[in-house]
Amino acid sequence: MFSPIALFGILIVSCLMSVAILGSLHRAAMPGIGRWCVGYALFAVASSAIIMAGDRPHPPAIIAISFVAFVAVLVLVQGTRQFFGLRPVRYAELAAFVLVCAALVYFTYVSPSSESRVVLISIAMAYGRIAVGTLVLRHTPREGARYACRFVTAAAYLGAGVHIVRVLAVVLGAAPSVTFLQPSPWNVLLLGVAIVSFPCMSIGLVMLAHDRIVKKMEHLATIDELTGAHMRRAFMARANTLLSRALLTGKPLSIAILDIDNFKAVNDGFGHAIGDRVLTRVASAVLSQLRPCDLFGRLGGEEFAIVFVNARKNEAAALTDALRLAVEHSPGDGPRCTLSAGVDRVVPDDTLERAMARADAALYAAKAMGRNRVVTATESELRDVA
Ligand code: GH3
Ligand code: MG
Ligand code: MG
Repeated sequence: MFSPIALFGILIVSCLMSVAILGSLHRAAMPGIGRWCVGYALFAVASSAIIMAGDRPHPPAIIAISFVAFVAVLVLVQGTRQFFGLRPVRYAELAAFVLVCAALVYFTYVSPSSESRVVLISIAMAYGRIAVGTLVLRHTPREGARYACRFVTAAAYLGAGVHIVRVLAVVLGAAPSVTFLQPSPWNVLLLGVAIVSFPCMSIGLVMLAHDRIVKKMEHLATIDELTGAHMRRAFMARANTLLSRALLTGKPLSIAILDIDNFKAVNDGFGHAIGDRVLTRVASAVLSQLRPCDLFGRLGGEEFAIVFVNARKNEAAALTDALRLAVEHSPGDGPRCTLSAGVDRVVPDDTLERAMARADAALYAAKAMGRNRVVTATESELRDVA
């Protein structure tokens, strides 16, 4: 049952399954996944070669198998860097790789020492796992994919731990250095941990990739690509949540509806593409000025809405006027443009639709008064609309 050949067989199957699972994410075109696949495939190749080389492998086989395993480790680390948007290749790492390969040749042909080879291979394996685990640990988000990150880190560090203990045991003379296929307790322990930690690592990496796909989809479904504002449906959902919370806590909440002035003339005079650029510029001017707690949405066309959290009507009007000025003076190519806005506060027992309708009425008053201004809903309008 604990035959190293059987354990290597399980390891090969688990590596190939990892390739298949990671490969299924290929269509997501996510950076790093290709390298992860190659890394696991190379581990499967190295493990198969160990079985084929037998109990007493020839020196060229030792060199070739170790080389493939080193490349596999390197590629896994590079894939993880790529996944997190870092430069995959590190020259210091490549130089260390060349040195380790040279040392391996030395301890195989010049001064044969299986102890030194075991130490070299174990250090390289431990390095790869620590590098992957640490990269994932460092990129653990405050919220979201924490579980997946911890899973990968734990699996990677577990594998690294066994390699480090093996190095210490060989260096201190506590363990005999034997080939991988001999059924020593070390080999069984190493292979057992590898069998558990390798697929755990790949499952964790798949979880990380899935989490990123979900975040991307969520972003696509909630954020308007052109302006960076929340899309209407996402805005309404979040605005309703903010309104319910404000009504519950009694904290003030205000809503502004903004509309770009004479935008049709921009499209007619400069073309739709320039119109789009102006829309982007206006939205980025608003977003750069907006408080982080406030909610910005695109209701449609060149009409936007803002929910001002913890802001009375006059405070919200002042904040909106600052946005109006920021838009009016926003730098960039294309025609200058202005916006008009209507603002109102939320009253007890209010609904989002009613509050927005009052702010919209104030916006129309701003347009009627000559545009490029902010108007607050009056108490009489408030009664009219409610
Ligand atoms: P007002 O000051 O009264 O708001 O005048 P306006 O010209 O801004 O108002 P109107 O509603 O007549 O025109 C809005 C224009 O916005 C019409 C439409 O072609 C344009 N528009 C809506 N969505 C987009 C978009 O995504 N890109 C571009 N370039 N134009 C858009
Ligand atoms: Mg307009
Ligand atoms: Mg409009």
